[in-house]
Amino acid sequence: MYFDIHTHSTASSNQVFTIQNKYPTSDDFSKPFSIGLHPWFLKNETSETELSLLDKKLQYPNCFALGECGLDKAIETNFDFQKTIFIKQIHLSEKFQKPIIIHCVRAFQEIIEIKKAQKPSQPWIIHGFQKDKQLAFSLIENGFLLSFGAAVLESTKVQEVISAISMNKIFIETDNSEVSIREIYQKISNIKKVSLEKLKEQIYINFKHIFRS
Ligand SMILES: [Zn+2]
Repeated sequence: MYFDIHTHSTASSNQVFTIQNKYPTSDDFSKPFSIGLHPWFLKNETSETELSLLDKKLQYPNCFALGECGLDKAIETNFDFQKTIFIKQIHLSEKFQKPIIIHCVRAFQEIIEIKKAQKPSQPWIIHGFQKDKQLAFSLIENGFLLSFGAAVLESTKVQEVISAISMNKIFIETDNSEVSIREIYQKISNIKKVSLEKLKEQIYINFKHIFRS
C-alpha cells in the first residue's frame, strides 16, 4: 500500500491510501480526509462559522488530521489574524487528538516559536517541504515531521534533504500535482538507496504511528 497523506484530488485507487484535503465548507466526507482553514481563504466574516464547522467535522469517523492550516507571508492577509486562527486550530487538534498538516510560506521561525509555546501533544507535519537541509534539521530538532511531494523529482535541494534525514521523519504526498504517488515513492527510494518495498514498509510504519481516524 502507498500512503498519500495530502492531496486535493478525489481520484482513488485500491493500492493507495489517500487523505483528501477538505475545507469546512466541503460536503463530501465519505473518504478519509483532513480538514482545516487554509490561510489563503481566511476571512474575518467567515472564520468563526468555519471554526465551528471544523469542530464538528473533526469528529467524523473518516477524519485523519487537521489541516492544511498554517501561516503564509506571501499573501496579503493580516499576519496576526493568520496566527490567531492557526492557534485556534492547534487547540482543536489537541481537543480531538488529530495531527496537524501545516502549510508554511516564509514563516518557519514563527511556526517553530508557536510550537515551543504551545507544547502540543499531537504531531505536526510540514507539508510540501521544499527548503534546505539546515531548515529541515532545525524543524526535525523541534519535533516536526516533513512531507514531500513532486518537487523531489526536480529539486536537488529537496533531494539533498531526503538523503540527509531519517526515514522515520518522512511522509509522501501528491498535493495538487499530476504526478503519481508511485513516482514520488520510487524517486525517494532511489535517493535513500533502499528498495521500494523497504520504503513502503517504513512509510506504512510512520503512518500507523502518527495517524488514527
Ligand atoms: Zn495542499
